[in-house]
Amino acid sequence: MTLREALARAAAQGLARIDAQLLLLHVLGRVGTERGWLVAHDDEALAPAAEAAYADLCSRRNAGEPLAYLTGEKEFFGLPLQVDARVLVPRPDTETIVEWALELLRPLRAPRVIDLGTGSGAIALAIQRARPDARVEAVDRSAEALAVARANAQRLQLPVQFRQADWLAGAGRYDLVVSNPPYVRAQDEHLAALRHEPLSALVAGEDGLADLRAIVGAAPAHLAPGGWLLLEHGWDQAAAVEALLAAAGFTRLSNRKDLGGIVRCSGGQAPELG
Ligand code: GLN
Repeated sequence: MTLREALARAAAQGLARIDAQLLLLHVLGRVGTERGWLVAHDDEALAPAAEAAYADLCSRRNAGEPLAYLTGEKEFFGLPLQVDARVLVPRPDTETIVEWALELLRPLRAPRVIDLGTGSGAIALAIQRARPDARVEAVDRSAEALAVARANAQRLQLPVQFRQADWLAGAGRYDLVVSNPPYVRAQDEHLAALRHEPLSALVAGEDGLADLRAIVGAAPAHLAPGGWLLLEHGWDQAAAVEALLAAAGFTRLSNRKDLGGIVRCSGGQAPELG
């Protein structure tokens, strides 16, 4: 079978063209930026073993497995991260909180930063790459997620300090606390579409706010004077998160929209500790 025939078969099974191309490149040991190569060489033959591997990946993709788990890779903020089912796939919308964090860090020298619930390490590694002078820590409750994050840090040669912990337990003091915690409601209908990703990275109680509440409550004691707390949250949680921040004494409450124009991150400056 030729590459063109393999792509046609995937399309007939209902795969999106881009997914079919990226999976075929993966089977051929090529990177996702080589789609032009694929178009130019689509009369080449696909070896039987590769054909079988491709058919398997296509049926898994059809069954809803994220493309990133099948290729083992996801780009985030320009960083090629390795991911698998131990971590949530980093979302493009999460780049919003990284951009905001980097803006706030701009005037600071050697800032202290902590990323809570780091998963693949995406936020912490993106900040560390942009700010080599920053002292970036990252925690996760999941030892499995930390193994993924540590491997990414090592491969990318970024000196983020990883630690297994429940939010801010055992943490020091920081200029910036940043988190993309679980924030989906336990009964949310979207969870069906996310069934291949770790539930512990997605769900936060009946109202989806359990972890955001815990982090807002704990953060003031871990922020340096003038420090900021930035949180990613669900599409309909901005008002609730702002109320949590206000109740905890945070000031200069602000927010940022994601790529879809939805308020996706909220934050504030540390309350003065009396
Ligand atoms: N943004 C993710 C989604 O809806 C959820 C991530 C999270 O809970 N932190 O797919």
